[in-house]
Amino acid sequence: MDTLKIVSFICELVECESPSDDAAAIARFTDLFAARVSDIATCRMIGTHLQCEFKLPGKRKSGQILALGHSDTVWPMGTLAQMPWREEKGRLWGPGVLDMKAGLAFFVFAMRTIRNADLPVARKVVLQLNSDEEVGSHTSRALTESEAKKSVAVLVLEPGTGLEGRLKTARKGVGGFRVAAHGKSSHAGVDFAAGASAIDELAYQIEKIRAFTDLARGITVSTGIIAGGTRTNVIAAEAHAEIDFRIPRLRDYAMLERKFAALRPRDKRCRLEVTGDLNRPPMERTREIAALFKTAQRFAAEMGVKLEESATGGGSDGNFTAALGIPTLDGLGAVGEGAHALHESILVDRIADRIALLAQLVPAI
Ligand SMILES: [Zn+2]
Repeated sequence: MDTLKIVSFICELVECESPSDDAAAIARFTDLFAARVSDIATCRMIGTHLQCEFKLPGKRKSGQILALGHSDTVWPMGTLAQMPWREEKGRLWGPGVLDMKAGLAFFVFAMRTIRNADLPVARKVVLQLNSDEEVGSHTSRALTESEAKKSVAVLVLEPGTGLEGRLKTARKGVGGFRVAAHGKSSHAGVDFAAGASAIDELAYQIEKIRAFTDLARGITVSTGIIAGGTRTNVIAAEAHAEIDFRIPRLRDYAMLERKFAALRPRDKRCRLEVTGDLNRPPMERTREIAALFKTAQRFAAEMGVKLEESATGGGSDGNFTAALGIPTLDGLGAVGEGAHALHESILVDRIADRIALLAQLVPAI
C-alpha cells in the first residue's frame, strides 16, 4: 500500500475546507473528490450530495453495499490558518481529518486495492457523501434512507471509538425539546407581586427535566441553552430552554414525550409550551449488526489487529439506516482523537489496517 499517496490524498481533502453552511465550499470539495475517483467510479450529484458507484471486479448479485460518509465538517472557513495540515508525532492533523476526510480516503483506497488485487465483489458498491451530516442531515436523510432500502449492508466511514478504533455497533437516538415559559411582565420594584416570572418558572421546570436523565438505562436529558428576560428591573414575561436528549431504544422516546407533555406550570399564571422531536432514531445492535461486526473482527484478527466494538451517545447517518433494519456497521473510518476539537488528528500507523479491513469486508458481503 502506498502510504505517501494516501497521505497526500487526505491532505488534499483536509486542505479543501468544507463547512456545512458554505455551499460553494462543499461544491469545491465534492468536485475535487469526484475528480480524484473518476478513474474508478461513476459519480453524480443529487442536490448537494455526491454518489459514487465503483467499477469493481466480479459478477453482481442483487442488492448493493452502501458506504456512507459526509463532505461537511464543523470547522468554519479559514480554520486552516490556526489549525494547519501537518504530519507530526506519528499523526496527521487538521480540521476534519478524523471526522471524516481520512475515512473517505480510506474507502477510495480500499476500492483501489480490490481492483488491483482483482478481488470479486458480489454487490454494487455506492459511496454517498452527504453535505449536511454535521447539522442534522435534514436534506440528505430521505436520500440515505432510499439508498439504504436497496442495500444488503451499510458501512459508515465515521471514525472509530478511542485510540483503539473500536467499531460502532450501537448508537443512541438523538433529539431535542424546546420548553418555553410565558409569564407576565411587571416592574420589579414598583409592581413586583403583579408579575409572574417566566424565568423562575423555567428554572423550576429545568430542575424537573434534569431528573428525566436515567444513566442506568442510558437515557440523558441535557438543557444546553437557556434564554429569557429583557432587563434586570423587569419581571420576565418570556424564557425558553433548548434540551438535548439521547436514548438507546426507540421506545424511550415515547416515554420522554409523555414526561415532557406532563410538565405543568408551578405558577398558575404562567403557561408552558413544549415542542420536540427525534432527529435520529437509535441504532440498536441487532443480530445482523453483530454478525457483520464478527466478520470484520475476524478479518482484523487475521491481520493481527484486535478489533472491539462500542456503543456511543453520538449520532450519525448510520442511525437512519439501522432504524430501517439494514445491517449497519459504523466507525470504520480513521483511528484518532479530537473530533470537533483543536487536537483533531489520526494515527498514521492505523491507516493500512483500516484500508485493508474495508478491502476485505466489501468482497465478503
Ligand atoms: Zn462525522
